Amino acid sequence: MDRTPEHRPDHQESTDGTFDDLLANNKKFAERFDQHGFDGVAHAGVLMITCMDSRIVPLEMVGLTFGDAKIIRTPGGRVTTSALAGCIAGVHLLQVNRIMVIPHSRCAMAAADDDVIIEKIRNASGADASWVRFGASADQRRTLHRDVEKLRNHPLIGDRAVVGGFYYDVDTGLLERWD
Ligand SMILES: [Zn+2]
Repeated sequence: MDRTPEHRPDHQESTDGTFDDLLANNKKFAERFDQHGFDGVAHAGVLMITCMDSRIVPLEMVGLTFGDAKIIRTPGGRVTTSALAGCIAGVHLLQVNRIMVIPHSRCAMAAADDDVIIEKIRNASGADASWVRFGASADQRRTLHRDVEKLRNHPLIGDRAVVGGFYYDVDTGLLERWD
């Protein structure tokens, strides 16, 4: 499929109702909201990099709550350039002193490498995604180790935070330390 304007999805009007359920939920949320003026530092000193997967509940799974932790979510829980930037800001400005990197079981980013995922997107949509770097890899231990070492050895992070690599099982809810 080509990418001429006629083939792009219509731009949605802000009034079309697509997000109404979520905005209605938010109104109820705001009615109960009582954290006015709460600061933005990580009160438990924790920063977590984990996958965007909908089965992961980052705070709950380690017993933390509102205000405790910085959460960075990337495909596969990989330490991307912007995740790295978040870690640097976290340790210098937001009281982060422990960083958890957490890939997980049955992750789409571990089922294949980037070439295969890009090919799947091309087959599904006809669109070229060859410029996207997902960082996908079936060898999760190796990529986790590489990501953890990247943080430990980084001159702006290594001295200021302890970095741990963990693996989350989406079927048992258990975290296992891998690195
Ligand atoms: Zn995942």
